[in-house]
Amino acid sequence: MSNAAPVAAPTVVARAQQASKYYGRGDTAVWALAEVDVDIEGGRYTAVMGPSGSGKSTLMHCLAGLDTLSSGRILIGDTDLSTLSDKELTLLRRERIGFIFQAYNLIPTLTAEENITLPTTLGGKAADRAWFDRVVGTVGLGDRLKHRPSELSGGQQQRVAVARALAQRPDIIFADEPTGNLDSRASTEILGFMRSAVDDVGQTIVMVTHEPSAAAYADRVLFLADGRIVDQMEGPTEGKVLDQLKSLGG
Ligand code: ADP
Repeated sequence: MSNAAPVAAPTVVARAQQASKYYGRGDTAVWALAEVDVDIEGGRYTAVMGPSGSGKSTLMHCLAGLDTLSSGRILIGDTDLSTLSDKELTLLRRERIGFIFQAYNLIPTLTAEENITLPTTLGGKAADRAWFDRVVGTVGLGDRLKHRPSELSGGQQQRVAVARALAQRPDIIFADEPTGNLDSRASTEILGFMRSAVDDVGQTIVMVTHEPSAAAYADRVLFLADGRIVDQMEGPTEGKVLDQLKSLGG
């Protein structure tokens, strides 16, 4: 008999089952997603890569309940998204999913701090002060919290957007090219910040990116081509991801 603690099976936070999305019909149909099966495990950082038009956005939007499938299923936890009404879907997105976009999407008239707390307030949740302080402490904006987005650099604005997503403690955060508008120094900061959210508080993150250097921050990389997951990599490095993209491209 071994004294080793039993290894808990990873929790699946989001799942696609035979997920397909097509536009048009018959011979001219475009398959944006073709029977994709994937599990997104809790507390892990997953990057999604692939050439333009390979289905990255479609996969992310369908997993996040922003778009619907033509066939197949998306589950968030145990909830099959196709069983929800529009109103239930809106609530699920608000309460259980966080978003980080390339363009930050902050509200210009609110301060950084107000932007961070807004989704929690809108969701009708009581503000968890200790959690908020921790998120704000990690965001490292100090006295800039009282500033409006126009008074912050791109990197600082994206920090606010990441903190806003974390503050509401979502089951999963979807990030769409989060460093697409940032210089390399600010990118490194944001990616490090997202990595620490996974390591320190067990946040689950799925990130679409074009950049091997960004994908290297993830635990796992999914490679898409023509609407299918054609490969996966655990423990990516920039070099390994570059080699993989070259071999898929050629
Ligand atoms: P990626 O994010 O990897 O660039 P997308 O998910 O945006 O890829 O697109 C996947 C495929 O689906 C592409 O061939 C794209 O042209 C097609 N597509 C996406 N949205 C539509 C639409 N609304 N109508 C027709 N085709 C679409």
